[in-house]
Amino acid sequence: MRVVVAGAGVAALEAALALRELAEDRVTVELVAPDEDFTYRPLAVAEPFRVGEARRFPLRALVEEAGATLRKGAVQSIEPERHVAVINDGEELRYDALLLALGARPREAIPGALTFRGPEDGQALADLLADAAEGRIRTIAFALPSGTSWPLPLYELVLLTDAHLANEGVGGGSLQVITPEDRPLALFGPVASDAVRELLEIRGIGLSTRTTPVAVEEGSLRVVPDGQIEADRVVALPQLEGPRLAGTPFDGRGFVPIDPHGRVLELDDVWAAGDLTAFAVKQGGLAAQQADAAAESIAAQAGAAIEPGPFRPVLRGLLLTGLVPRYLRGGPGVASTVDTEPLWWPPAKIVGRHLAPFLAAHMGLSAEPPSVVQEGAVEVEVELDPELSHTPVG
Ligand SMILES: Cc1cc2nc3c(=O)[nH]c(=O)nc-3n(C[C@H](O)[C@H](O)[C@H](O)COP(=O)(O)OP(=O)(O)OC[C@H]3O[C@@H](n4cnc5c(N)ncnc54)[C@H](O)[C@@H]3O)c2cc1C
Repeated sequence: MRVVVAGAGVAALEAALALRELAEDRVTVELVAPDEDFTYRPLAVAEPFRVGEARRFPLRALVEEAGATLRKGAVQSIEPERHVAVINDGEELRYDALLLALGARPREAIPGALTFRGPEDGQALADLLADAAEGRIRTIAFALPSGTSWPLPLYELVLLTDAHLANEGVGGGSLQVITPEDRPLALFGPVASDAVRELLEIRGIGLSTRTTPVAVEEGSLRVVPDGQIEADRVVALPQLEGPRLAGTPFDGRGFVPIDPHGRVLELDDVWAAGDLTAFAVKQGGLAAQQADAAAESIAAQAGAAIEPGPFRPVLRGLLLTGLVPRYLRGGPGVASTVDTEPLWWPPAKIVGRHLAPFLAAHMGLSAEPPSVVQEGAVEVEVELDPELSHTPVG
């Protein structure tokens, strides 16, 4: 069975590894993507502070190591009735099974703010930190726009900024978080949320919840419902949009609807996994879990003796803070736990059943937590409602 995977990010690599294990030589797997490298983005938040870096691996070697092949190019459209994916050079790729793993597109949601999308915005944030270190700016607001389902990097940015400025000997400024959430990192449940609230309090970082930042205007941040918040600079996360690939169904924000086994609604032999799906929370660990469900379903269709399981989302997050590590677990039916030991292994930022050990074993990504993680992190784990298809944050 010929499996084509559109994309070569987290979900695509996890699916390739899972298919190799589950379906063995019943399938050939070809990934299609324009990238030269696989970029491990979560540590991008640490780059501007010079305490970590977004890791990059040559993609072709990684894909081949995973037992698949790489076709360089961008998928422009699909023609599901003909079982064809159309590439930007005009070539048509025939498939028996197609997995869409194209990720999402970040877009600025708060005009006038520094929108931190990943490694590409590291230098702008480093410049802002230099301005703060030299006293040119004193108040920085960290703003979560409505419709952002993965708020963790914003909390990492404010905590790392605080630690960085303290190391630089800068005092007297003020940092604050502005968020539409009911409580900080509410998505992870009360234990994680209380731990984050406590961290912010200990550091003297301000917090405004149930407050939606809208735009930066004349040196202040306009918010609803309460007017203006004074800030010299504003750092924000982006909103995400789906890729709106021609030939696929998608919702108003461009995200693809799937069933619990990752099958794209209304289409035959097409699956989707990761940030491009309509599932509310866009996160690498969840992308990998969706990829595993899709891979099981594809492997069963290829004749493997397997009963495919549905996507059962469990959210695990590792929060870089600069303080002593704490590992938290919670969620419906799971006792809330706080521990100093990792809750998963290897203790990666992106928790993929196959991808995390694969990157640890083959690509030199350490099986030990990076030093920045050892020095200060909070791990959190929570089960989510698999039907969640609206954003839980604001
Ligand atoms: C700053 C930051 C911090 C984060 N922190 C964490 C964290 O701590 N933990 C965590 O789990 N997640 C984290 N994430 C989120 C995580 O990186 C994403 O959720 C994850 O990468 C989504 O995987 P994906 O496979 O859906 O998409 P991606 O990994 O984005 O991969 C998409 C792939 O599709 C390719 N592509 C796009 N368009 C086309 C096309 N037309 N044709 C062919 N290929 C195409 C891209 O080149 C890429 O290869 C973070 C993200 C950022 C930006």
